[in-house]
Amino acid sequence: MTSGRVYLVGAGPGDPKLITVRGMEAIQKADVIVYDRLANPRLLKHRKPEAELIFVGKLPDKHILKQEEINQLLVDLALQGKVVTRLKGGDPSVFGRVGEEAELLVEHGVTYDIIPGITSSIAVPAYAGIPVTHRDFTSSFAIITGHEYPNKTYSSLDWEHLAKAIGTMVFLMGVANLEQICRELIRCGKPPEMPVALVRWGTWADQATITGTLADISEKVKQANFQSPAVIIVGEVVKLREKLAWVEKKPLFGRRVLVTRARSQASELVDFIDDMGGEAVEFPVIRLQPPSSPETLLALDLALEKIHEFDWIVITSVNGVEFFFRRLREKGIDIRRMGNARIAAVGPKTAEALADRGIIADLLPTKYRGEGILETIEAELQPNQKVLLPTADLAREYLPARLKQLGLQVTEVDVYENVLTTDGGDEIIHLLRNQSIHIITFTSSSTVTNLLEALRQHGAEEPLSLLQGVEIACIGPKTAETVLELGLPITYMAEEATVASLAQSLTKRI
Ligand code: SAH
Repeated sequence: MTSGRVYLVGAGPGDPKLITVRGMEAIQKADVIVYDRLANPRLLKHRKPEAELIFVGKLPDKHILKQEEINQLLVDLALQGKVVTRLKGGDPSVFGRVGEEAELLVEHGVTYDIIPGITSSIAVPAYAGIPVTHRDFTSSFAIITGHEYPNKTYSSLDWEHLAKAIGTMVFLMGVANLEQICRELIRCGKPPEMPVALVRWGTWADQATITGTLADISEKVKQANFQSPAVIIVGEVVKLREKLAWVEKKPLFGRRVLVTRARSQASELVDFIDDMGGEAVEFPVIRLQPPSSPETLLALDLALEKIHEFDWIVITSVNGVEFFFRRLREKGIDIRRMGNARIAAVGPKTAEALADRGIIADLLPTKYRGEGILETIEAELQPNQKVLLPTADLAREYLPARLKQLGLQVTEVDVYENVLTTDGGDEIIHLLRNQSIHIITFTSSSTVTNLLEALRQHGAEEPLSLLQGVEIACIGPKTAETVLELGLPITYMAEEATVASLAQSLTKRI
């Protein structure tokens, strides 16, 4: 027999953190991921690098693959011995056709797990400040397909009983039939002034809500050209939204923010954006790696061999710390050999990274740029002292030049280099063309130049024009200079050159 198996996974309503731990594990172990339109593609970044992706997205009236074909696809892939993760929006059992997929798997003897998800029918109202039940208003709710025409000759829904028996009614797939749904509910006894809300793309950056009554909502929806996918909520609980709406109050609500820094460094910024209610889209245009040139590496190794001779080691970034210690370890050099040197860290994060390795920095400047470091350490330095400066290939010139002026013997070594990466560029071009990226964050000059190069390599002939109208946020003056040289305006500027400050700046235009 085969070792193939299938995970039928609920991806949740959209917010990529609304997936279960089991669902995430299934993404991480899959050889193939079969996913559709309502499963947020951002979840896919957790896959194994070699995992195959198959999009079987269903648009409202245009099936890319028929359901029977999807069922068969899952069977075929599993019988080839693959671990298959079928990612579906919301919960797979709620209008998700998981039953049909599982049935065919059973018939072919394929093992599967059904991993529930957070269904849009409850989560999307909650993100709009509408709890589907509330002691004061209703003790029942129903999830109903809006796909059945209430006035067609045959409807499997018993509208009269539903209207009488159920408190809150949540309709999925109902936008196109909204008018008939409202008419039918009124006919069956619901009061015309009964509150109704539609929430589209709930829990995504594009979440939007419209409210009204059974009598007027369909006209309002038409006027606003309010499109699916949306959840329709009918019931007194809709009134609670006025008081309980919360997502909309977050400072970055509705804003999609491009994060261009290296993936290994991006998580802090991504979390800040997320906390502030924005949607971070990661497009790392930089990867950090050890120096690729043998000469550079040799110079580094020679300096490390003589580490005991230095009076000062000045470390200018968290990455500097990471790659410096990585190389010491690779060369089998014990950190006690740097015991003679005093250590300066440029910023609190760098100091923290040092502390993680058991080293408490001797000096920590109050200002985080090259000039600031000097102000702090100048008084401590004596001419002719030996200073080791482990930096990166793109490091600023100011610090070493000034140290040399002060009569110090400076050894600069590169401990890492930045290289361009462009993975996922097609998707970013698509988002930029649709004006779906609202802000771009730049955390160094090279993120600016690399972004343009990455877009160019993915076929954008005029990458600058793709950035027109997108707001730009910069971490510091050097980065800003690069942006301004390209003729682009800057909307947000960090007060301090830290990621926390950059994130904070996104709420205040300059
Ligand atoms: N299994 C899914 C529902 C699939 S039916 C679940 O449990 O959520 C597809 C319908 O779900 C859409 O037509 C829409 O009505 C609703 N839907 C799914 N995700 C949504 C979202 N993020 N915002 C609004 N409606 C959504």
